[in-house]
Amino acid sequence: MKLRFLGGADEVGRSAVLVNDSLLLDFGTLASDPPRFPVEVPEPEAVVVSHGHLDHVGSIPALLSGSARPPVHWTPPTRELAMLLGRDTLKLHGGTFGCPYTEADLKRVPEMSETHGYREPFLAAGHEVTLFDAGHIPGSAHVLVDDGDTRLLYTGDFHTDDQRLVSGTSERPDADVVVCESTYSDVEHESRSVMEERFAESVKTTLWEGGAVVVPAFAIGRTQEMMLICEAYDIPCYVDGMGTQVTETFRRYPGFLRDGDAFRRAKSHARFVTGRDGQRKRIADQRAAIITTSGMLSGGPAMTYVPEIRSNPVNKVTMTGYQVEGTPGRELVETGSAPFDGRILPVSASVEQYDLSAHADRDGLRAFLEPYDSDDVFVVHGDRCGAFAEELREDGFDATAPTVGATHNV
Ligand SMILES: [Zn+2]
Repeated sequence: MKLRFLGGADEVGRSAVLVNDSLLLDFGTLASDPPRFPVEVPEPEAVVVSHGHLDHVGSIPALLSGSARPPVHWTPPTRELAMLLGRDTLKLHGGTFGCPYTEADLKRVPEMSETHGYREPFLAAGHEVTLFDAGHIPGSAHVLVDDGDTRLLYTGDFHTDDQRLVSGTSERPDADVVVCESTYSDVEHESRSVMEERFAESVKTTLWEGGAVVVPAFAIGRTQEMMLICEAYDIPCYVDGMGTQVTETFRRYPGFLRDGDAFRRAKSHARFVTGRDGQRKRIADQRAAIITTSGMLSGGPAMTYVPEIRSNPVNKVTMTGYQVEGTPGRELVETGSAPFDGRILPVSASVEQYDLSAHADRDGLRAFLEPYDSDDVFVVHGDRCGAFAEELREDGFDATAPTVGATHNV
């Protein structure tokens, strides 16, 4: 089996692996400024997408420009998220180098889409492919590829612990080669319940004191996880930004959720903001949690809410995800100030950070990989892939951290 790493190797973003020059796994976008894409646009016979995050699905429509029409295989929620992200990208970057496709390309995506459930094998570019629940976000999949000689397990992003939105993965399909994500290979997550309780306690304290709490959150997965937590702890909450549409998408696929009833309760508990900045300013005066994009303060309605609440120290901003170096969110956490509309503003409201990750941590990765100790393991999707591969080698694994553009025969 021949593997070509077109992106997502020793970096997080633009994931893309070409198998046997014919089957493409993921084709993502690296959300930097300007955005970056896989190092080449291949002409695969078929594509399989692991899940609906921008760094895995963001460049898919570019594969359908010109005359190429490869089928795109994925779960139903991943297809929906791909279209949502595609429309958002066109809105933000359409017609610039930040968008590698046109509206016409995006419109072809549903025509080429072939959806599959978990554990239902199908044929793609002459390979037998099976998707397994990866426990990362609704619809996320491990992708098992069998070319007749070699079985490849492409993990995609995964979590081994339960979240409120989805259960952790317990899948360990037999394989000869593993391409494994490693986002949190040097982190040990604190217990989820302890983290949740601390978050709920902190938010409630602020509300009792008469303040508001802005909860910047990624639209896909984290927004809904925060809604579920707010419902469970009876915290009044608003939801604003693209997370609103994503919530509606997930509602249509209860079979891909851990608890469809809990999700429905969380959805009716939350109040969705459809409005303009005038409405947002009124909401910012209320004693409530405001769950809003973007998760790293790089845009979205958060850019209205945070400046609105920033000068009162009773208020709070709670970051709920990893803050990439160089983002306004990271700057706020580290310095107490951040750029809003081009102006650096000090934030007197207290700023807190909670690790509510949807990725396996170091122990989770090690536990996941345990059954594959005689396989070839390729470590991707992380900031320290080389170091993690080295640790695995010390423990007897045949592990490699490929570089972007590298080809490996296995
Ligand atoms: Zn992801």
